[in-house]
Amino acid sequence: MVPRIIFGRGSFNQMNEIIAPKRSLNQAPFIFLVDDFFVATDKINSNIDLYGNDKIIYVSAKEEPKTSQIDDLVKHIKELVGVQPAGIIGIGGGTVIDISKAVAIMLTNNGRTCDYQGWDLVKNPAIYHVGVPTISGTGAEVSRTTVLTGPERKLGINSDFTPFDQVILDPELTISVPKDQWFFTGMDCFIHSIESLNGTYLNAFSQSYGEKALDLCKQVFIEDHLTKEESQDKLMMASWHGGMSIAYSQVGIAHALSYGLSYVLGTKHGIGNCIVFDHLEDYYPEGVNLFKEMKAKHDIILPKGVCTNLKEDDFDVMINVAMSLEPLWENALGNQWRSLITPQLVRNLYEKM
Ligand code: NAD
Ligand code: ZN
Repeated sequence: MVPRIIFGRGSFNQMNEIIAPKRSLNQAPFIFLVDDFFVATDKINSNIDLYGNDKIIYVSAKEEPKTSQIDDLVKHIKELVGVQPAGIIGIGGGTVIDISKAVAIMLTNNGRTCDYQGWDLVKNPAIYHVGVPTISGTGAEVSRTTVLTGPERKLGINSDFTPFDQVILDPELTISVPKDQWFFTGMDCFIHSIESLNGTYLNAFSQSYGEKALDLCKQVFIEDHLTKEESQDKLMMASWHGGMSIAYSQVGIAHALSYGLSYVLGTKHGIGNCIVFDHLEDYYPEGVNLFKEMKAKHDIILPKGVCTNLKEDDFDVMINVAMSLEPLWENALGNQWRSLITPQLVRNLYEKM
């Protein structure tokens, strides 16, 4: 779990005092990895005091993170500052949050990033890393993984060294998120709660967080009693609870199919989950009903026919990627899932999307 966290509107302004005790005597610099959306605003840089050799590196979230991108970024940081940094501060949506966790790990572990995709393969503790989410929903700010696309697969670096040492939850940073993005990333949290609560891996720990995440999502996306500020605050906490819920259980069918879309088509996680979840009424009937209600309420139009132009080979890869995520299917359907899910059935689902 993340050992230190502060929450509050405007709490980002406390960044300088939070990291001050971690500044070492040898003046090792902090590296701020900031979502490049913030280049055009002074929201972030006006609140960071750069000392000595501290650097801000703007990172694009146009594409989801790749292992090769982490290798390049680590090399760039080593060349840029020449010493081991005092810490990595990641400020952005799930993409930049995940990149920051991966960079912090790869600054202390040799070899290629793709060698660490999997479970508990990281040998050395990461350098001090702080996460500041600027979109709510993924739960990446709290999770034990950083999801990366490598040469062979899209798979997280799941390890005890992955979670942040400190998280700053400042809902004011999410004010500028466009409506569609707000919905797609928010639905990631909603889907985490549905998949967790309807999974066979469920236990009291996960359930308690999943129920809270679901309750908060309903308040934000269905009920009409919140102010804008309350809604931002609550969605940030929903994201946290959704992340905590799956940390001790697992996601399910929507995530398995969405990983397939992402691998072959590059579809981003939030919108990909929505495209998939819209067709999963046979598996999550109540959740999908609620989802359709929220989609209608917020006038969200999802793309259609995303698999129309796929070749046979593409379908095979997509189906293989989705079906290789065994724990996700097992969580959703139990250990006999292979008798319920066939490649043809997965293909039929993809063709509906
Ligand atoms: P994102 O980080 O991809 O960002 C989406 C867009 O919003 C980008 O264009 C970005 O520049 C912009 N943006 C970010 N903050 C903004 C702000 N405050 N105002 C305006 N625009 C802003 O979106 P996301 O949905 O948060 O993250 C998706 C990523 O999270 C995927 O890579 C996915 O794999 C990952 N993820 C990780 C975990 C985990 O546990 N590690 C869990 C779920 C998802
Ligand atoms: Zn997700």
